[in-house]
Amino acid sequence: MNLIEITNSFPDELSAIKHFERLRWGKKPKCAYCGSENIGVRNADHRFNCKNCNKTFSVTTNTLLHDTRLPLKTWLISFAIVTDAKKGVSAKQLERNIGVHYETAWAMGHKIRSLMAIENKEIELSGILEMDETYVGGKPRKFNDGTTSDVRKAYKIPQLDERIHDLKEAGMKLKRGRGNPAKSDINPKRGRGTSKIPVVGIVSRNGDVIAEVMKKTTYTDLKKLVNKYVDKNDSVMITDEYTGYNRFSEIIEHISIDHQKLYSYKGVNTNSIESFWAIVKRGIIGQYHQVSLKYLPNYVSEFVFKYNNRNQDDMFETLVKNSMKTVSTN
Ligand SMILES: [Zn+2]
Repeated sequence: MNLIEITNSFPDELSAIKHFERLRWGKKPKCAYCGSENIGVRNADHRFNCKNCNKTFSVTTNTLLHDTRLPLKTWLISFAIVTDAKKGVSAKQLERNIGVHYETAWAMGHKIRSLMAIENKEIELSGILEMDETYVGGKPRKFNDGTTSDVRKAYKIPQLDERIHDLKEAGMKLKRGRGNPAKSDINPKRGRGTSKIPVVGIVSRNGDVIAEVMKKTTYTDLKKLVNKYVDKNDSVMITDEYTGYNRFSEIIEHISIDHQKLYSYKGVNTNSIESFWAIVKRGIIGQYHQVSLKYLPNYVSEFVFKYNNRNQDDMFETLVKNSMKTVSTN
């Protein structure tokens, strides 16, 4: 849904609330605590009283939006803005568009990304697959006294300017900037072997992608990702000649392509995953100037979600549905 459709469909807060209620309960509200259908009429504040357990609840009680104080209409508008933007929406933009404080907009962005991540967990890939890694620098959080977080110390993350420079130079031109000689001859320190954060991805040609931030890219780490997301009996995996993939034929039918010699041989290439990396990097450079290591997985989730839903119109409804998933009441 675009913004005009949203404002037409949900002219006021009640219409927005009812939309969430339909997705959570169907026609009739159920108690968010005991599940009873024996509940009173809607109160003025849109809460309901349960006649069974005597508690009051609203549509967001014990859902992933449990602690929100924002109007639900604001959430619907934000879902529409975020799903509509291919490259992502920065907290600054969201702040301007919906008129909330920066901190609120920032938290909403991450909540929305966490709703997107729910979908990503259910992916299973098969067919002709391409697997590859890319490297993204992270900007660490700086504290008031000028020191940086432990994350920065642990990973020695380059400064933002360096990182953008690197990504612009390395990321946008996909034939460079990685650890294998064909890609890194201009600057051998770039890519594998540097202190940037690896993101590893697997894409099914004409299908879905998954990607995760990983600390290391050894065979053991890469194998875990395959085991988690790939139907190994029904797939062929194409990679480059990075040593982490050397033993892949032990777990899956595996073709590697030597990028020192050529990039594609009779359709054997890693072009699809490279295209996905280009989207990720453009988004991170263009929209999210300050991505810290801590939140990098959330941004990656957003790009995975959007890539996998690129031909569908129901991203918006998926977010509404996911936001109404119930969480434990403990
Ligand atoms: Zn109850």
